Amino acid sequence: MSTARDPDCLFCQIVAGEIPAMIIVQDERTIAFMDINPATRGHALVIPRAHVRDVHDIDTDDLRAVAATAQAVAARAVERLGAAGVNLLNSSGAAAWQTVFHFHLHVIPRYDGDPLRLPWSPAQGDMEEISAAGMQLKQ
Ligand code: 5GP
Ligand code: ZN
Repeated sequence: MSTARDPDCLFCQIVAGEIPAMIIVQDERTIAFMDINPATRGHALVIPRAHVRDVHDIDTDDLRAVAATAQAVAARAVERLGAAGVNLLNSSGAAAWQTVFHFHLHVIPRYDGDPLRLPWSPAQGDMEEISAAGMQLKQ
């Protein structure tokens, strides 16, 4: 199992206990802690202990472990905070809004009437373009 660490990485410093964080789950591969700028009440982040930048770099077993921890945190958000829904969000790459370059999955509890809105305006797509992109992505 990787124990990679980047000494300049904020989240590696949280893993090492060098900077404080409100940790809510810890296991062999992952930790979950409260986001310091919560989008909603209970907004948490789940990270692998091993330093990796984004979805392209993360070890598949670590990704599974992060997903499992996020599922547990999401369940608590519903059971203990009364969330009506949950968003799981990962940003990989600056173009996708990533600002901290240690992989993390946001667990964002959602409440009826909360202020969060979809970041895009759903609009009818062009079927040819959808198919063309699908062909490029297809196995
Ligand atoms: P990103 O924008 O990369 O998807 O998410 C980074 C997240 O890390 C943001 O939601 C931000 O609020 C959170 N964050 C940044 N610095 C700290 C910190 O020092 N402590 C904690 N707990 N969260 C942080
Ligand atoms: Zn790191």
